[in-house]
Amino acid sequence: MMDSNDLGIYDVVVIGGGPGGLPAAIAAAREGSKTLLVERNGFLGGVAATGLPLLAFYDRTGTQVVGGIGDELVRRLGQVGATFDGAIPCPIHNSITPVNPFWLRIEAAKMCEEAGVDLLFSTEVLNVAVEDSRVTGVSLFSRGRNYTARTKVLIDSTGDGTAAFLAGAEYEMGQGEDTRVQPVSLVFSLGDVDIDAVLDYIKSHPETFANPPTYGVHYTLDYFLDSRSFYFTGFEEFITKARENGEFDVPRDRVIFAKQPNSNEVVVNAVRVSDVDPTDPVSMSKAEAVAHRQVATLINFFKKYCPGFENCFLANIAAGTYARESRRIVGIKTLEDNAVNESLVPEDTIALAGYNLDIHTGVGIVLQPSEHAIGVPYGCLVSKNIDGLLASGRCISAKPYPLGLIRAMSTCFAIGEAAGTAAAMSVRSNSKLSALDVSELRNLLAKNGAIIETDQASQTAVARFG
Ligand SMILES: Cc1cc2nc3c(=O)[nH]c(=O)nc-3n(C[C@H](O)[C@H](O)[C@H](O)COP(=O)(O)OP(=O)(O)OC[C@H]3O[C@@H](n4cnc5c(N)ncnc54)[C@H](O)[C@@H]3O)c2cc1C
Repeated sequence: MMDSNDLGIYDVVVIGGGPGGLPAAIAAAREGSKTLLVERNGFLGGVAATGLPLLAFYDRTGTQVVGGIGDELVRRLGQVGATFDGAIPCPIHNSITPVNPFWLRIEAAKMCEEAGVDLLFSTEVLNVAVEDSRVTGVSLFSRGRNYTARTKVLIDSTGDGTAAFLAGAEYEMGQGEDTRVQPVSLVFSLGDVDIDAVLDYIKSHPETFANPPTYGVHYTLDYFLDSRSFYFTGFEEFITKARENGEFDVPRDRVIFAKQPNSNEVVVNAVRVSDVDPTDPVSMSKAEAVAHRQVATLINFFKKYCPGFENCFLANIAAGTYARESRRIVGIKTLEDNAVNESLVPEDTIALAGYNLDIHTGVGIVLQPSEHAIGVPYGCLVSKNIDGLLASGRCISAKPYPLGLIRAMSTCFAIGEAAGTAAAMSVRSNSKLSALDVSELRNLLAKNGAIIETDQASQTAVARFG
């Protein structure tokens, strides 16, 4: 029999402690809201805790477009030697910020504690209480127990829009009737990689990193040789050979890996499982099994075929297989395709997205570079039909095409800070989220160090890049 425990009354409950949820909880608490952050894992960070580099704190022009809590976290990581000093320009990914995932977990939890956020780990949202189309509370499940908490605002940063779904919020998944989404992946790290040998190979075989002409942007040899870290995409020649030998069945044409702050370690983004429904536990469980098998295939591949990897070992596997795309709430506004094509930064922008369009499909990637950041309007965070509900991170209201750009982790940090700040403002003023004064929200975000205007962005394009 399950106990039921009442956790009391909160101003803001945040479900999911990844790039979308972590800053949301910190911002809400710093703005005076009694805040609870609920996380399925036993640590914070979501995909940021896998070791993958945080992309696009700076846009392609070298302008910083994400500040605030995300930037603060990176600076704290710098102080403990868990990242390089400043973001690194990348010809393909605009900028990369490599991080040690374990230090990220530690600093993230410290930031929450310092802000006064109550943390509930290893806990899942089980249900959302809604009265007259307004969120009133949540029930949670952990270690055989049920918990309840009342709340004025609920922020869904599960990536999957799970809390919004449970609240009965309108949502979309995939494109129209076709609910298929981008493939899911399991991230892992390899230690004892001879980086010099990798670079020697790249130097003598620059064709390995040649991108398809459709990308319109290309790596340079200097990027690999001169940067403190790099995000590599290539080795198609070895995949072809391994496939011919019956030793490679991963559905992708190139592997992606990034050099970590730890010397001789790389984080690998090369697992790919397609046709998975991230909202279906059975589908995801099958994907976990396939993904783990692919990790073994990939390690054998790296060791046998790729120069510099001969003596590598498996240093880390992420806590689980993560989805790039899942449910997206229907908001009072939606980020439409023209936001990308016309580089729109509307007046109600609460976060800048400085990445490129990057959609994983088939065995490759559709990549469309963006010169300047686009703006994410506040209304994309606000549920259209459920009061008291905000989305943050990758489950905000966006069509699949712009989602391919705003899903970068730096952007999710910025969206999260806006979500938490908006939640606290609405609690303070006792106003509906949909009626919030967006210019006041923008003023408060800017005062707290967030970057929400491109002019403001160009003024801060200084020292830390490079
Ligand atoms: C394989 C992969 C590679 C990527 N590569 C990069 C990259 O190199 N750089 C980059 O910047 N971006 C990358 N992205 C994109 C980026 O990581 C995501 O878009 C971003 O992390 C989304 O942030 P989020 O907080 O919305 O979701 P997530 O990072 O997925 O975090 C969601 C959090 O919510 C928790 N959660 C989920 N459901 C529940 C529940 N029911 N109850 C409680 N907690 C729950 C999860 O445990 C997790 O901690 C990648 C994404 C994937 C999947």
